[in-house]
Amino acid sequence: MFDTHMHGEFSCDSSMKFKEAIEVAKQQNIGIVLTEHWDFDYPTNPDKFLFDRDEYFKQNMPLRTDDILLGIEIGLQPYLAKENDKVAEGYPFDYVMGSVHCMNKKDLYEAETYEELTREEAIKLFLEDSIKCVELHENFDAFGHIDYICRYMPYADKHMYLSDAPELFDKLFKLLIEKNKPLEINTRRLDNKEAVDKLLPLYRRYYELGGRYCTIGSDAHYKEHVGRRLDIATDISREIGLKQVYFKNREMIVLEGL
Ligand SMILES: [Zn+2]
Ligand SMILES: [Zn+2]
Repeated sequence: MFDTHMHGEFSCDSSMKFKEAIEVAKQQNIGIVLTEHWDFDYPTNPDKFLFDRDEYFKQNMPLRTDDILLGIEIGLQPYLAKENDKVAEGYPFDYVMGSVHCMNKKDLYEAETYEELTREEAIKLFLEDSIKCVELHENFDAFGHIDYICRYMPYADKHMYLSDAPELFDKLFKLLIEKNKPLEINTRRLDNKEAVDKLLPLYRRYYELGGRYCTIGSDAHYKEHVGRRLDIATDISREIGLKQVYFKNREMIVLEGL
């Protein structure tokens, strides 16, 4: 198995060193991909989620093996597509994950972002922004945590449902499929049985529309979280029929037998 999403010392919000993640990966006998944050123009702090790419490779390349890979998580925003598409150019990243952390230039992490919005309206805006992002960006390999908004939106009901915006979910999934971008099954919220039940129809819809591949990622910021709930995510992918993949040298590799 491969945990394709985690943060080390080049992400300002991480408490883990890459070497620690490698230790855990060895103990658990799994492959890992480091995906440090890269968010241009982050609303609350425009330069905080950027890092020195040369230094990243200088420090991490000696640690790279067939199962310890080097990636980046780029924060997609529609107006940044041109700039974002250049971030990985000229660097030997194994994997570029595209993730949406903002909508309408507002941080999904901040409670103010949701002021005067109902849950349904927030989900729609998030999906509309995600669609624009996927339309405009080319240089990424897979789409991170579709349920990111559910981590932070301040509503009694913390779930997203297909019925919130069936056309928008379909549009986003069709675009990803057309562009050959697997969907990540992020394990962060999978400890919650209810969250799993609500996410299943989304991933199943992606499959129904023709999606066949997924990545699995813990989004670990602490060493205790590396490889967390890969088993639950694997149950989900198996139940739906999605094949797990990871990327090496920007090429998709299917994990057989999972
Ligand atoms: Zn993220
Ligand atoms: Zn992340």
